[in-house]
Amino acid sequence: MKLIDGKKIQTEMIEELNHKVSDLMFAPKLVIIQVGDFGPSNKYVAQKKTVGEKVGIDVEHIRFYEDNTEEEILNKIDELNEDPKVNGIMVQLPLPKGFDEDKITNRVSSKKDVDGLTTENIGLLFDGKNAFTPCTALGVMELFKRYNIDLKGKHAVILGRSKLVGKPLIACLLNENATVTVCHSKTENLSSITKKADILIVAIGKKHFVTKDMIKKGTVIIDVGINVEDGKIYGDVNFDDVKEKASFLTPVPNGVGRMTVISLMNNVIKAYQEQSK
Ligand code: NAP
Repeated sequence: MKLIDGKKIQTEMIEELNHKVSDLMFAPKLVIIQVGDFGPSNKYVAQKKTVGEKVGIDVEHIRFYEDNTEEEILNKIDELNEDPKVNGIMVQLPLPKGFDEDKITNRVSSKKDVDGLTTENIGLLFDGKNAFTPCTALGVMELFKRYNIDLKGKHAVILGRSKLVGKPLIACLLNENATVTVCHSKTENLSSITKKADILIVAIGKKHFVTKDMIKKGTVIIDVGINVEDGKIYGDVNFDDVKEKASFLTPVPNGVGRMTVISLMNNVIKAYQEQSK
């Protein structure tokens, strides 16, 4: 098995993107809107600030609280949409109960939607057109590219159909001419499907769900899962169990997780370049 080293690729990409940014007239700017004080969200925002700084992107964090109104958040997004100094806008999810995630994420201009979550960008992605791809899906596709994993004609099976990961991956893989099957919690005889996968991408949020009896020899396995137990992080794939059978495998941590934030920065630079045209 060959290890897909997300940490190494992230380091390479930080350097490449930093180089790209140094050729730009101004530092690209990303604004992150957070509502509330949810612990994991605070951690993700901090990671984005750290990586942004390394790349040379100006990251501004705007925090609203549960007692702010939806209208106040929408007004702020309107203002940022109009601000020529702001290249990318993202809303840190999940939002606290009572806030309409769909309405708020869709208020971001599709030209600044660096998280790729507006209905317009999702439509463009499924249409095979130029779009902002959601960051985790983009990160997974980058791993295939960097490890020269050919997708054309291959049977790719995705476990999970979330808006953030599973669904955009359907479009990304189809756009690369893979044959795609997507499974979810209602799928029957799951193992009979996963055993036919040349490429298996797992994003379900269940610790060590995928085991060696569910795959064929030589499968490429991408583990998107992040499951925290007693302060430790586990993937959706039982790494030690499948490692002899897989041809390529991502670890957790230091696999896909490393790719999500750097892919966001990639999208911010893309937004800057497209807005400068
Ligand atoms: P989500 O919104 O909770 O969706 C989970 C998906 O898995 C749903 O489509 C669900 O099916 C499906 N599912 C649940 N149990 C299943 C089972 N037993 N068999 C088959 N499918 C099953 O999750 P998400 O946001 O996509 O995240 C998935 C995992 O990836 C989580 O661990 C999350 O922390 C992690 N994640 C990691 C990154 C990263 O940067 N590495 C980014 C995002 C998410 P239904 O649709 O039928 O309910």
